[in-house]
Amino acid sequence: MTSTPWHARSVEDTARALKTDLSQGLTREDAAARLAQHGPNALARGRQRSAFTILVHQFRSLIVALLAAAGGVALVLGDVVEALAILVVIVINALIGFVTEWKARSALEALRKQAVAVARVRRDGDEREVPAAEVVPGDVVLLSAGDRVPADGRIVEHAQMQVDESALTGESLPVSKAVEPVDDANAPVGDRVSMVHMGTGVTDGRGVFVVTATGGKTEMGHIGTLIAGVEEHGTPLEDKLAQLSRALLVVVLALCVVIVITGWLRGNELLFMTEVGISLAIAAVPEGLLAVTTMTLAVGMQRMARMNALVRRLPAVESLGSTTVICSDKTGTLTRNEMTVRALVVDGRHIDVSGTGYAPDGDFAHDGQRIDLGEKELLALRIGALCNDARVDRSGPEPRILGDPTEGALIVAAEKAGMDPDKLAEEYERTAELPFNSVDKRMVTVHRTPDGRTVAYMKGSPAAVLRASNAADADRQRVLETNTELAGAALRVLAVAWRDLPDGHAEDDITRDFTYAGLIGMIDPLRDEARDTITTCREAGIRAIMITGDQQATAAEIARQLGLNVDPQGRALRTVHARELADLDDDGWLKAVDDAAVFARVSPEHKLRIVDALQRQGHVVAMTGDGVNDAPALRQADIGIAMGIRGTEVAKESAAMVITDDNFATIVRAVEQGRIIVHNILRFIHYLFSCNFAEIMTVFTAIMLGWPLPLGVLQILWLNLLLAACTLGAFAMGMRWYGTEGEALRHAVTIAFMTLAMAQVLHAFNARSRTESAFSSRLFTNGWLWGAVVVCVGLQLAAVYIGGLRDVLGTVALNAGDWGVVAAGSALPVAVVEAVKAVQRRGTLPRTP
Ligand code: ADP
Ligand code: MG
Repeated sequence: MTSTPWHARSVEDTARALKTDLSQGLTREDAAARLAQHGPNALARGRQRSAFTILVHQFRSLIVALLAAAGGVALVLGDVVEALAILVVIVINALIGFVTEWKARSALEALRKQAVAVARVRRDGDEREVPAAEVVPGDVVLLSAGDRVPADGRIVEHAQMQVDESALTGESLPVSKAVEPVDDANAPVGDRVSMVHMGTGVTDGRGVFVVTATGGKTEMGHIGTLIAGVEEHGTPLEDKLAQLSRALLVVVLALCVVIVITGWLRGNELLFMTEVGISLAIAAVPEGLLAVTTMTLAVGMQRMARMNALVRRLPAVESLGSTTVICSDKTGTLTRNEMTVRALVVDGRHIDVSGTGYAPDGDFAHDGQRIDLGEKELLALRIGALCNDARVDRSGPEPRILGDPTEGALIVAAEKAGMDPDKLAEEYERTAELPFNSVDKRMVTVHRTPDGRTVAYMKGSPAAVLRASNAADADRQRVLETNTELAGAALRVLAVAWRDLPDGHAEDDITRDFTYAGLIGMIDPLRDEARDTITTCREAGIRAIMITGDQQATAAEIARQLGLNVDPQGRALRTVHARELADLDDDGWLKAVDDAAVFARVSPEHKLRIVDALQRQGHVVAMTGDGVNDAPALRQADIGIAMGIRGTEVAKESAAMVITDDNFATIVRAVEQGRIIVHNILRFIHYLFSCNFAEIMTVFTAIMLGWPLPLGVLQILWLNLLLAACTLGAFAMGMRWYGTEGEALRHAVTIAFMTLAMAQVLHAFNARSRTESAFSSRLFTNGWLWGAVVVCVGLQLAAVYIGGLRDVLGTVALNAGDWGVVAAGSALPVAVVEAVKAVQRRGTLPRTP
């Protein structure tokens, strides 16, 4: 008996086995006792990337591997100092990377805590909200669309409930649920339709289930991670770095072979030459590269967090910088999502509604004349107010909408007509419903009227409502014309309809034969900065595409107001209706995304196809999303962006970045920031590689010419290591002094730039002899060296003090304090190398060949 799995048992049997009363729920005492027995309903830390994973990740790169190999070789050759130096570089780099990623994770954690996940449960015969962590086996839990399932359980009743289980099973289509037991006791998780599972999301309908497992005992707990398959493909920069490193490796190995053979042929000892070759190879590895890359990304990530963009993985900063297309939601991201009803059209009579915001004050007017509303207008407004799940909270200083702003606007409109929504809801008791979803685009509620009839009220997009209505063709035509007119004025349009229901009505009675009652149009103002941001995008060569469930005409008008409707060359761009996407083949999709600025009436699956088509065109795609079923598109995009305010938990976990203010402008600012960062990194890489190459060529040429080695091996290594450390130190000082925003950052960069250059120059003296101090009697003996130094310093000064050059290089003029940092930073490597030489001269360290 106990061996029968839950999904194969009857509801009654399940309730009995779990000792729970389905209609009353658990008692408070029983729930507390069970919580003590089973522990909190939470997953172990494995839900996210653990500290260990983040740490390990820091070591997974080719450069680290090269470094480690070089360190190993050094150790084998007995060069403990070199091996240690390399180890230090690896560890420091890993620490920087780890600390920043960890910080980002904590920031996200904090965000998550602000909105503690709650579950609606039945306890002591009442419905109440409890923290999801306090759900226990035997609890009776209520679900509706948009909810995240808080635990595993057996379904006891449901109305058209569909659940997105992609996080658990990988199945991207929502699954319909059932109350009847599943016959096959061994059915795989994906087929257990009588069960719901923790971490999945309800996309449609509502339901009730009794909890069978919590916390680590759930299916999700078994997997140990919430989002299956968080892909770890390399970012463009990571790929480029890996490529560069491989190329460098080949070149260096080839040079080494040549050096070893040449040296040997010239009569040097083979062993000695092999050592020189290997040491040179070690020297050629760009130690500074990794640390600087990580640091730059980390600084960028923190800066972005301050701008309301939480980046969840370090390399995502860089993908952001490479973004070429941003696909953005309309409502709430480009617009304010503050809806106000402006128009009411009943029986062809157009009524304007005045008033702003959510205050219940406003008038109804026709042709500029104030009017009193008739029965039919009041019915339309009553449908809007009753077929509605939002509430207006007027307890604070400012009225606030709890729930969907679209529905909030309808409540406020009813209030303007003198209705009391709370009283109305009491008088018209709701007995059944079909919740709104972004695919059907309509909502239905069933009510018992005060005079004892049963009525169904529907509201939704005009097309959806007309589909369910019995209106004559001529009337439909009129309604659609009015709709186009309202939508063309950028209004969001909803139609309302009603019908009387027979006793014992059937399921599909509430989706047909409705009587059309009117149109309601509401405005959703553009966000203040939206238009400017679109312009910024265009100037930066980034395409912006608006994606909305709203209708074509509304979307097109908003696109026009935003300036989205033409491309930078002046070519008109289209507002594509989802209808046109229905049976496109792959090429059709490519064409569709090519000349579209807006996709209207889209469903979440369309988003996935849009991302895919853009990526096939070679675009790096950022895609926003908030709903549960946006998760696949968010994961497919190069940068999935979840909304911090509107977004569901599932969306946030699937995204690479969370925008805490839901604002399009923030996305664009983050992309700009990412670009600056990528640019800086590339500049640095270029510089580092040319330095390294110069060093190798110096040694190579000397050997080919049969000269003695100009640079000691240890010196070459330290040159790289120290120079990088001092440059970074100076950079850090610069950022402390001047901050990291725009112009100020250029100041800090200039300091770093100058330090590196001066350190190289000073090092030239150092490098003249492997053993003798730079300050020996020979300091002034080499005229050529002094000549070179003067030229170098002169060029550097020109770089910061000649206006034109300064613009090209992006530097700024330095002040006395800055020069102090530069002097200290560039002198330090010399001092250290001098100290080492002194120690070596005393013979306490083994000499390098
Ligand atoms: P978006 O969020 O992109 O504006 P939605 O999918 O939310 O698009 O809405 C699409 C259409 O569905 C709207 O134009 C409106 O006609 C209708 N609609 C929106 N919200 C509701 C709701 N709560 N109830 C009924 N219909 C709605
Ligand atoms: Mg919406």
